[in-house]
Formats: sequence, C-alpha cells, structure tokens
Amino acid sequence: MQTISLQEEPLINLFDDYPQREIFHHDNQEEYLHAISKVSMAVKRFLNTNKKPFSGVSPSELRPLFAKVDFNQPLSDYDSLLAEVESLYTNHAVAFHHPEYIAHLNCPLVIPAIAAEVMISSINSSLDTWDQSAGGTLMEQKLIEWTCKEIGYGSQSDGIFTSGGTQSNLMGLLLARDHFSLKHFHHNIKLKGLPAEASRFRIFVSEMAHFSIQKNASLLGLGEQAVVKIKTDRSFRMNSVLLEDAIKQELELGNIPIAIVATAGTTDFGNIDPLQEIGRLTNKYDLWYHVDAAYGCGLLLTDQHRSLINGIELAHSVTVDYHKSFFQPVSSGAFLIKDKQFFNLITHYADYLNPKDHDEDGLPNQVNKSIQTTRRFDALKLWFTLRMMGKAKLGGYFDTIIQTAAKVASLIQADTAFELMNESDISALVFRYNPREGEADVCKMNQFIKKSMFNGGEALVAGTKINKQFYLKFTLLNPLTTVDHVKNIFKIIKKHGNEYLQFSKTTADVRRN
Ligand SMILES: *Cc1c(COP(=O)(O)O)cnc(C)c1O
Repeated sequence: MQTISLQEEPLINLFDDYPQREIFHHDNQEEYLHAISKVSMAVKRFLNTNKKPFSGVSPSELRPLFAKVDFNQPLSDYDSLLAEVESLYTNHAVAFHHPEYIAHLNCPLVIPAIAAEVMISSINSSLDTWDQSAGGTLMEQKLIEWTCKEIGYGSQSDGIFTSGGTQSNLMGLLLARDHFSLKHFHHNIKLKGLPAEASRFRIFVSEMAHFSIQKNASLLGLGEQAVVKIKTDRSFRMNSVLLEDAIKQELELGNIPIAIVATAGTTDFGNIDPLQEIGRLTNKYDLWYHVDAAYGCGLLLTDQHRSLINGIELAHSVTVDYHKSFFQPVSSGAFLIKDKQFFNLITHYADYLNPKDHDEDGLPNQVNKSIQTTRRFDALKLWFTLRMMGKAKLGGYFDTIIQTAAKVASLIQADTAFELMNESDISALVFRYNPREGEADVCKMNQFIKKSMFNGGEALVAGTKINKQFYLKFTLLNPLTTVDHVKNIFKIIKKHGNEYLQFSKTTADVRRN
C-alpha cells in the first residue's frame, strides 16, 4: 500500500493555470466578484429585453438548441456561458415581474430578498444544526417568533422554515396523525408505524382546498380516501353546516375524524374559509386544526385587511408561504405551531448531527423540528426584506393588490360580455368571456383564448374548471399591475375570443353550404 506523505506540496503549485479558481475561497475574491457581476448584468438584460411576460416559444422550437450542448466541452468564460443560457433560458423565461403576468400565484420579488440570495448561496450555511449555522439559526428563530406573533400565537408557539406550502401542509397532517394516534390509541407512529385504525382516519377539507392535502394524505399512508371534501357555499368558502354533518356521518360509519384543514385563501378563488366557526368545530370534536394560509398569509402584513383571517390563531398549526404573498424568491415557506411540544412527535436524534446532549447544553438544532436535514438559510431573505422595508410597506403592497382586484372585479361584472364567478377575499378572479353570440362552445372559446394568449405571450392569465366548465383566472399579486394594465388584457381576451367566434362562424357556414 502506498503511504501518503504529509510533506507533499499543496496541490495549487502543481499546476500552472491555478485550477481551483472556481472554488469560493479567500484567494478567489476577484473571480467571485467577476462571476457575480457578469450574472447580474445578464439578469439586467433579462429585465431590459423581456418586454412581454413570455416569448411564446414552444418546446419543439427550443429543444433542438439543446442538442449541441456537450457537458464534456466546458465553455470556461462567463460571456460564452451566459450567451448560451440566454438563448436556452432567460430569453424565454416567464417574467413574473411583468405587470401583465397575472396567471399563477407567482409574486414579483423585492430586491432586498434577491440580494440576500447572493449571500445565502455564497456562505451556504445549513440550518439543520447550530454547528453549521450559528447566528443563522437565531435569525430564523426570530423570524419564526415574529410570524407566530402576527398569527396571534402565544409564548409556547414555534415553527420552522420549509420549502413551501406543500411541505408545511405535510407537516401539519403528520403532526395531526401522530398526535391523534398517541392520544387516543397510545400508539406511537414514529416508532411503530401506522396503527390498524389508520385506514379509518379522516381529514376534512373544502372541495376547493389545495391538492397537496390529498397528496400528503397518501404520502402519510392514510390514502386519498382519508380526505373528505366538503362542499363550499356560493362564495367558495367551506360550508360549516355541511362540515359538521360530514363529521357526524363519518363517525356513524365507524370512521375516525382526526383533523380539519381550513384554507385561508384558496388557490383558485382567494376565498377564506370561516376560520372561527371551523375552530369551534375542531374544539367540539377534539380534532387537530390546520390552517393553510399559503396564499392568505400576506394578510398578516396589513392592518386594513387583517380581520379577514381572524381565527387563524385558533389553529394548532399554520402553513404560510412567504414566496407567494411576501414577495420572496422561491423557496421560502414556514410551518408554525401553537404548542412547540408537538415537534417532539417528529424529533429524531442522530449521534453525528444533533445528539440529545445538545438539547441539554442549550444548543438550538433546528433539524429537531424539520423533515429536511440540510436546509437553506431562506430566512435571510425575509430578514433583509423586513429590515430594509418593514412590515407596513410590504403590507401596503398587499393592500394595493387587493384594491386593484376589487376594481377589476367590478369591471368584469359591469361588462356584459364577461361572466364573473367569484368575489375574491384576496386577489384571484375566475370568469369567462361569453358575449352570447352565435353557437360557439363557450368552454372551447375560453380555452382558445388562454392558449392564444400563452402563444402570443403579450399577457398571461391562468385557467381553471368549475363543474367541468373551463374558466379564465386572474391572480393579481403585483402591486405594479394597474387597472389600465388589466383593461389592456381585457382587449386581448376579446380579440382572441372574437377570432374564435369568427372562425366557428365561418366553419359553421362552410358546413351549412
Ligand atoms: C400554492 C399553495 C400550496 C402549495 O404551496 P407550494 O409552496 O407550491 O408547495 C398549498 N396551499 C395553497 C392554498 C396554495 O395556494
């Protein structure tokens, strides 16, 4: 066996062209600044050249450009690299910051949060343990404390940053399941796996709840069968009378209600379930109460609209998505609980990482509360944001969005060519174009409008279905989007709608003759 000499020359001197210049290191500061400034300039070009939210490129147009990329032939300079990335990506990336992008729940970003990203990824702290993050852990904890306070939680509350709403909802259901099983069956799921009764566990949500509830129920071994969907009222909020009926009915069937998930801002309509009434029912039936405020959490920032989520403080656990309503880059979410002892249900001590004696020594290890191990310091983005701007300014953006959405709703309502389906508590409007001309299929016409807009890229809207009928959807999340921008979008919608009407009229004429 070869012995390794400790006196060996450092690798650096063995090569003429210093080969480790790409490593983030004290000696490579110039390289670091060069790279970051080149990339910032490319992002600036993205802002300058993308005058529409989308180029309209199709996969078949883009795919051939990928054929010539050979990972074994590095480009080695940033100008060539960025030229390639611009042609493959940024020239066609969907611009969420564009005021006429009002499709999905993608917010524009605040610049302090983007700046924080540079620091997050450069220093690359991992927030699982104190010994990998130090002050970062305390910053995260302080932001969690702040969020808990805004929710209205007391001193026993706690939480953790997550990758987003799906993960936060998973944690809510996980704690609900394990807590229920321990309390009612003295069965520790963490140690023993699911009890026989688990196939009868039931979780109640509105039919408009996010699909991650079902997905998570199946991940948790309860199956999608565990999710009981409650009909909404005319304003797409969970009907609490039907909810109580459903709980009683499941009990009669011999099933075991364990939790209710209320949605504070549904993805499609931005409507908020009756949080207080649902809170009363969770008390009455001794159920876990989870509030999914992935969208509605922005209401925590505003005094003017905060009352819309009164009752959120009754929940055992809450999902917030800073990357939806706090203008933060993906990913940034949090899971909050009213009583920190529930985190014990998921804590696992690993000798190499977070041994139990760390707890006794007072070392805060965030991994004890997370289902992730290595975890980004996403909290720093929110820290930069709140320290640069403060809560009120951020909340002001959310107020502006809500006001614009209300004005847009009345414009849709006033226009006889449109049918508005909801009045949103926040900023999601579902409607369709229906000028009631000719025999055109209204669903197909609106699908055509959505598709044509995406292909043209001038303005982007979303679509959804209610009772199998297709509708268009606006999700307003940009404080720069004005009523005039939306009026322009109405024009585009009508233009494509009328193209469709013209086309179906001509084909009908052709068929007739
Ligand atoms: C977006 C959304 C989620 C999922 O959040 P991700 O961050 O995309 O994982 C969950 N619930 C609601 C109500 C949402 O709107």
